[in-house]
Amino acid sequence: MTTTVTAETTPATGLDHLEIQGVKKVFGDNTAIERLDLSVHRGEFLSLLGPSGCGKTTLLRMIAGFETPTDGAILLSGKDIVSLPPHRRPVNTVFQSYLLFPHMNIADNIAYGLKQAKVPKPEIAQRVREVLALVQMEDFAGRKPEQLSGGQQQRIALARALVNRPQVLLLDEPMSALDRKLREEMQLELKRLHTKLDTTFVFVTHDQDEALAMSDRIVVMYDGVIQQIGTGEDIYANPANGFVAGFIGKQNFIPAEVASIDHGTARLRTANTVLEVPSLDLRPATAAGRTETLRAGERVRAAIRPERIRVAPAGQEPATANTARGTVMSYSFLGDVIQYMITVGDNDEILARVPAAGSTPLSADAEVDLSWDADAVAVYGCEGGSSSSDREGGA
Ligand code: ATP
Repeated sequence: MTTTVTAETTPATGLDHLEIQGVKKVFGDNTAIERLDLSVHRGEFLSLLGPSGCGKTTLLRMIAGFETPTDGAILLSGKDIVSLPPHRRPVNTVFQSYLLFPHMNIADNIAYGLKQAKVPKPEIAQRVREVLALVQMEDFAGRKPEQLSGGQQQRIALARALVNRPQVLLLDEPMSALDRKLREEMQLELKRLHTKLDTTFVFVTHDQDEALAMSDRIVVMYDGVIQQIGTGEDIYANPANGFVAGFIGKQNFIPAEVASIDHGTARLRTANTVLEVPSLDLRPATAAGRTETLRAGERVRAAIRPERIRVAPAGQEPATANTARGTVMSYSFLGDVIQYMITVGDNDEILARVPAAGSTPLSADAEVDLSWDADAVAVYGCEGGSSSSDREGGA
């Protein structure tokens, strides 16, 4: 827990509040973070999102001061903070485990950092009252942590960080111990708090729904490398590479070969159908590659989001490009959508999601025609041997 009081800190002007410059972190023979650059805007809600082990917590811990970068600089309002210990940084962290002191009541837990920093008693009392009101926990000041629910303890952990008025609030998977409903409530709560405060939030999560629900921008990480930075809409609609396309939202990847290219349209042959694609962009498999132009004969992966696929009883759609005949393997009613798992040919499994309203589910074993708009298809290099890297090696 950091306990810095930063009320006196003069806020700097300028857009980029926190700058990570060429930061790298090596543990023994394991590189957790490859050389990485990232600018966090003042007052934004930025999420670090990625699968377990991608390095997001390590990055957060370097900002907090709990880990030292092997290389690079971390600038806060233009000043390098790498040499400052955690308690001297105008930054506070909220952890997954709330780390409240069990023997102290809530007010004393929140006041702890201010007392350590020798803030005058009347000011402490006022700031504790204010921050309890901010997290809507005014009536709980006298209770012990064990007398609070998990969600209430999480609010107190937030209050204890915010009472120090940090320039940057770091949140390390703070909601992962909460059940789903409470998590959703806390997401709204955090958004509300962020809107009220000028504080920059850097939020670590492996939960894409959480990141999409709350963030101004999302940094998608994999294997110590930033794969894409953008708004939720950006990275969902326009993934920069195959990793992001598969990690954010559901995705159908279909192995395909470029059969021909004619007047700006590519025809891709899959095992069971033909796709006509109006873009010749071949996006890389990972951030290591770059977008190229499709060429005839290449093996690629075509990607179609489940919600872009229409499902109709067989026989009603003409068999043209961008259609396929399949069999419903199973379906699930998810409230707002019906999700179908459909087999096409011997080995393609296609996930389709159609709005539930006004739609009667097609039963398992039903024969169906699938169709999609040409612009629903994006094309990516193959994993482990993307066309981009093949080209760099050969052509
Ligand atoms: P998770 O969601 O599981 O917490 P993460 O994305 O936060 O994962 P990190 O905790 O940052 O991942 O770990 C990144 C890599 O660095 C992993 O390979 C991890 O094993 C390694 N690592 C992290 N901390 C240490 C450490 N103190 N010593 C050695 N290796 C470490």
